[in-house]
Amino acid sequence: MFRKLHSLLGPLLVCTVFAISTPAASSETFKLLYQAEIQPESGRALVEIRLEGEKLPRKLELHLNPERHQELESDGDLEVNGDEAVWHPKGKSASLRYQFTINEQKGSGSFDSRITDKWSILRSDKLIPPISATMESGLRSRAELKLVLPEDWSSALPYKEIADDHYRIKDPGRRFKRPKGWMIVGRIGSRQDIIDGVDTTVAAPLGQNVRRQDTLAFLNWNLPELKKVFPEFPQHLLIVCADDPMWRGGLSGTRSLFMHSDRPLISGNRTSSMIHELVHVATGIRGDHQSDWIVEGLAEFYSLEILRRTGGISERRYQGAVDELEEWGKEAPTLLVKRSSGPVTARAVGIMRQLDREIRAATDGKASIDDVARALAEDRGKVTLARFRKLAEEAAGRPVKALDKDNLRDAEQ
Ligand SMILES: [Zn+2]
Repeated sequence: MFRKLHSLLGPLLVCTVFAISTPAASSETFKLLYQAEIQPESGRALVEIRLEGEKLPRKLELHLNPERHQELESDGDLEVNGDEAVWHPKGKSASLRYQFTINEQKGSGSFDSRITDKWSILRSDKLIPPISATMESGLRSRAELKLVLPEDWSSALPYKEIADDHYRIKDPGRRFKRPKGWMIVGRIGSRQDIIDGVDTTVAAPLGQNVRRQDTLAFLNWNLPELKKVFPEFPQHLLIVCADDPMWRGGLSGTRSLFMHSDRPLISGNRTSSMIHELVHVATGIRGDHQSDWIVEGLAEFYSLEILRRTGGISERRYQGAVDELEEWGKEAPTLLVKRSSGPVTARAVGIMRQLDREIRAATDGKASIDDVARALAEDRGKVTLARFRKLAEEAAGRPVKALDKDNLRDAEQ
């Protein structure tokens, strides 16, 4: 699971990410049905997690947000202690129920999760909290999410729909599968296309000023080039758009992203928030205490680079845009900070260009930064400077100067 935040006010803001994975094995399966009834009148979702099978997990630990996940009850053994619930399912069929508060407002007053009487936009990985499962090796889940919605409402999620508002959940590498990413339900308008094998949907509440067709055309034009860098790009992609009072920027999630409808596809400085967020979707990486600049720098670098490759901007305008970012980046004395935003990310873009040139020069153009980015996307999870440097040196076939520590911070730092 991962999470990103970007603001309209500063083109490059903050990202936090985290991911959990367990090794997979296969022999026996149990059925895992998540059911969520969306209730506009209470602003809540009534959630049930139902398990059915010859063998069930021995213990499930739910990592709750106590302000949002409330009134837990179960027909089995359940202990709730602050932000943790421990459930021991019993027998061949067991269920746990709770209520989830949908609205969530950020410090700025805008929402990153919202329900009205006509629609709701939220993240399924918030609706269903992280769950650690203790179960026999070889046991694995077959998971579905079923939504119960008011009349006339429909839904869009980045999963295969097997019946109306009923989805099969993919969660690679996890035996206890869980839905992740953005979802939108309600009276919504959506446009769908298959773009280079990616089942792509752009959805928004009906009646809002959202350019679904422009967005889909932009994706038709740029996603195939992004897929050349990241061939493992998810098979489903959901883009959710909405007006105020939703978050005034972009937020990426698993196989999905949210983008405020005021946000241009290409900004004044020639970068693209849409491509930036798609790179986050593609890589699924997060920084450690000093490597967020790698996560943000790659996303911002490719937001220009993909446009250059697709002819969206000329070589001259591309180089000018990176030059301008490099200039702005001089305001950041070091890249080695916990959160990369503004001038830090701008400086990181310059480093990425430098690194790309160095790898191409060292290999007579046979390798590039694409090889490094692709390898990071295969790793997913946390990226460190050491890992990034190792991959870059493998691609170049020799040490790289661009990633010298002295190149990543000013002398006095
Ligand atoms: Zn970002």
